[in-house]
Amino acid sequence: MMALDAKQTGMKVIILDPTPNCPAGQVADEQIVAPYADTKAIEKLADKADVLTYEFENVDLNALEDVQDRVYLPQGTNLLYTTKNRLREKNFLRQAGVKTAPFMAVHTSAELKDAVKKIGYPAVLKTSEGGYDGHGQEVLRNKDDLDKCAPILATGDCILEGWVPFNRECSVMVGRNEDGEITAFPVSENIHHDEILHLSIVPARISSELQQKAQKIAVQIAQAINLRGILGVEMFVTDDGEIYINELAPRPHNSGHYSIEACNFSQFAIHNRAICNWPLPQVELLKPVVMVNVLGQHVNGVRQQIQKKADWHFHDYGKAEVRHNRKMGHVTILTDDIEATLAEIDNTGIWGA
Ligand code: AMP
Repeated sequence: MMALDAKQTGMKVIILDPTPNCPAGQVADEQIVAPYADTKAIEKLADKADVLTYEFENVDLNALEDVQDRVYLPQGTNLLYTTKNRLREKNFLRQAGVKTAPFMAVHTSAELKDAVKKIGYPAVLKTSEGGYDGHGQEVLRNKDDLDKCAPILATGDCILEGWVPFNRECSVMVGRNEDGEITAFPVSENIHHDEILHLSIVPARISSELQQKAQKIAVQIAQAINLRGILGVEMFVTDDGEIYINELAPRPHNSGHYSIEACNFSQFAIHNRAICNWPLPQVELLKPVVMVNVLGQHVNGVRQQIQKKADWHFHDYGKAEVRHNRKMGHVTILTDDIEATLAEIDNTGIWGA
């Protein structure tokens, strides 16, 4: 989606991805097929490019550091260094002056017991690096759950977080360029199934004061991290109007996909503009919207809807292999009635109860 936008504005796109003819490769001018840690391949990409960008946390940090002097890497490496490790990220957020769940670094079961004493139940143990979509996490409700934590502790550095009793999960995409211009997207309300993003609803069903507060926090974080490009800021909103930052995505984010149709500029357009230091517009929501993810198990059902739903925007990423719980595409529905659209999605029966 980033490549599609770049092509539209006349940029030439070369991507590096280990899978031949991967989704981005199908749109790019050229694909370098190589692992994300292949230093030689990253050097080759850097030498061919005017601007180098990453949109994935697991890109090799050392390889990026090595090519920084041969190519313009607007996002830099600090953003990746900070966001690829939950503990570093939480420490950064704390220093930036925003609220997070209470947290402690944990390496051993003794440290875990100690941390639980301080943080209390319920809590959630997470691997510090490499986890996604709920992988590498264990929720601890009482001391019986401590025994389940051995596999996570065995993976290396971990973090124990106190449970935030949230009312809504929201996110804000925020873009910033080298000149320091900033633009924040509307607040998205995110609903997860099995810890995978299922739906995004925009505007989020929270008060306009809270929406403004959420955008202000996203801007504060963008400034604190000296952002260039786009950042996804995931947050928990509680009943009493507190906002806790859960995590950061140093790239376009699934919860921002709605912006392709629903905003005057998409998250991909803002990222591309920001990394080229083009001026940034004020992003506006043109119409309320619901975005629903299409996982492997939803593909057949959704394809049948193409003949039925004239006003649904269908996105298929072109992934070769359909797998259960794999993100294969998404559907965007602009609407004047969010609740009716949610019911319409439910009524298809594709996404289950
Ligand atoms: P994460 O990978 O950190 O985004 O966690 C996956 C999901 O687990 C989140 O979207 C939340 O629904 C839930 N979760 C994670 N951490 C917490 C927390 N500290 N308090 C409450 N819910 C959490």
